Amino acid sequence: MATTAMSRVFFDWNAGAPLTAAARDAVVDALSLAGNPSSIHAEGRAARGLIEAARASVAALCGVAPAAVTFTSGGTEANQTALSPSMEIDGRPVRFARLLVSAVEHPSVMAGGRFPADAVGIVPVDADGIVDLAALERMLADGEGPVLVSLMAANNETGVIQPVADAARIVHAAGGLLHVDAVQVAGRLPLSVADLGADVVTLSAHKIGGPRGAGAVVRGRPGLAIAPLLTGGGQEGRSRAGTENPPAIAGFGAAARGAIDDLASQTRVSAQRDWFERALMLISPGVTVFGANVARLPNTSAFSVPGVSAETAVIALDLAGVAVSSGSACSSGKVSASHVLGAMGVPAGTAAGAIRVSLGPSTSDQEIERLLSAWQTVSHRFARR
Ligand code: PLP
Repeated sequence: MATTAMSRVFFDWNAGAPLTAAARDAVVDALSLAGNPSSIHAEGRAARGLIEAARASVAALCGVAPAAVTFTSGGTEANQTALSPSMEIDGRPVRFARLLVSAVEHPSVMAGGRFPADAVGIVPVDADGIVDLAALERMLADGEGPVLVSLMAANNETGVIQPVADAARIVHAAGGLLHVDAVQVAGRLPLSVADLGADVVTLSAHKIGGPRGAGAVVRGRPGLAIAPLLTGGGQEGRSRAGTENPPAIAGFGAAARGAIDDLASQTRVSAQRDWFERALMLISPGVTVFGANVARLPNTSAFSVPGVSAETAVIALDLAGVAVSSGSACSSGKVSASHVLGAMGVPAGTAAGAIRVSLGPSTSDQEIERLLSAWQTVSHRFARR
């Protein structure tokens, strides 16, 4: 008997979006370039040309001048770079005594960058996952010297959007600087570094349809220089040593151009997400949708249903051809309790059931139907137990 491979549907765009056709072409074309982008011969200049074109595209995505963009190996390296106790503003050294990060940041921010552990403070969030701005203000006032603050634009697990511009005003009034991890916002909401009020912003290519392994540190403040994380070469205007990766960067640039166009599809994505959640509530009336009361990314739904373990449900959905993720942190193959849901005060039992469904610009209504029908089967199987 002939077997047909089951088609798969993908609802894990927040973990890594599928490579766009344009990004794939850009990567493949760049792979056959011979030159080192720092070489002055024609081959080197061709590689340099690709990188500078990509820089202009990434800059356009977030409304800055190309010179403000430094390419890195991804969002994690960009966050590690941005969280530096040593910076310069207009040639004057600035030394940050402390780093304050919100309690729901990505692990690459929670790790504290290059600050000693005892110099890192955690700013609490409320039950919806929104940062407590009064607590931020108090924590800024409590201590000597300038403070660096890191607040993400939107959360990768829940999609909850932070009041970044308000935080920026508070941080600047206290003489500090603000870093914003905007990895999940790019391509999903209009992104303007100036409107955020951010001094430094982090981006990652693979959340917007670019290849894994490319990212950027974007400086929002003219005259700002961050002590490089990688030293030993003058690449990237002396801000990041090491030969650039032209295929990954060219792919990032192509994805950034596509992400600007993708913004138009986000109204449909948001309607599909809302439809999914309405249907989910009918199938599983006891469901809790995290962050449902506040502004969220259009594409993200994180929820928990009593009696349904996330790990088991993710595996059962996977067997049904549907890729979703557990809302808990899972970067080592081992699912552990989500610090995001913990910070929101979600009881451990509910957090253990957290499932994240994240949509993308190419998500179709038929795929949502497939997800709902698979969920119905999986959740009924649990309910019978
Ligand atoms: N910041 C956020 C909010 C993320 O969601 C991620 C990836 O999951 C990162 C940073 C890290 O980016 P990368 O995977 O490119 O290192």
